[in-house]
Amino acid sequence: MSSDKKITIAIDGYSSCGKSTLAKELAKELNYLFVDSGAMYRAVTLFALRNNYISNNDLDSSGLISQLSKINLHFELNTDTNTPELILNGQNVAEEIRTPVVSSYVSKVAELREVREKLVLEQRIMGEKGGVIMDGRDIGSVVFPNAELKFFITAEVATRTQRRYDELVKRGFETTLEAVQKNLIQRDYIDSHREESPLIKTNDAIEIDNTNLSRSEQLSLALSFVKKKVIEQNYTLT
Ligand code: C5P
Repeated sequence: MSSDKKITIAIDGYSSCGKSTLAKELAKELNYLFVDSGAMYRAVTLFALRNNYISNNDLDSSGLISQLSKINLHFELNTDTNTPELILNGQNVAEEIRTPVVSSYVSKVAELREVREKLVLEQRIMGEKGGVIMDGRDIGSVVFPNAELKFFITAEVATRTQRRYDELVKRGFETTLEAVQKNLIQRDYIDSHREESPLIKTNDAIEIDNTNLSRSEQLSLALSFVKKKVIEQNYTLT
């Protein structure tokens, strides 16, 4: 007997290895909801920067934590690009959360237990009906430990650096490969070593190393796992 319930797909992995790209493409193929959980951590970081809880390389954790209830986040679909964009307290911050300054502080903010508790709760609500593809660092381990399908995405650091560098240059930022690589390595280290829900590959996650895969090859591979899972468990595909 077939169920009309859609599965939940969790995608985790290191920085800049194309998790969001894969999640977005899968969501389009399957007509699922795509949630970029990293955007939410970035928006909290932007809020901290704007309200001076980050200055001179220093994060005022207790000040930021005291203001968390004033941070309202939701996604709105940009119908031109078919991408959900993050709205922070009524303002679209899709561009601003991608700046290098946000990237340089986000992992520090993401270490805070109170920040994680707030965002994990909101992420679970977004995914409670299934049919969601969420990417991040703790999706398969903490947010949706019972997700029917979990991917762990990796790629060599040089490949990830080049991809992120190209993206930043395309968006008009002046940077260097060295600076981009330093930020990636730093974030990966903090994300994998923090006390609160560190980035891990869960035992049930399927690892995909996309160093030598094109986007379409990666998508086909991931889709083959989705189809297998859906057939195995009698779920609906789209
Ligand atoms: O995915 P993205 O690179 O935009 O994420 C930015 C940062 O947000 C990560 O480096 C990590 O510190 C944090 N993050 C997290 N947990 C998630 C998603 C992102 O800690 N689920």
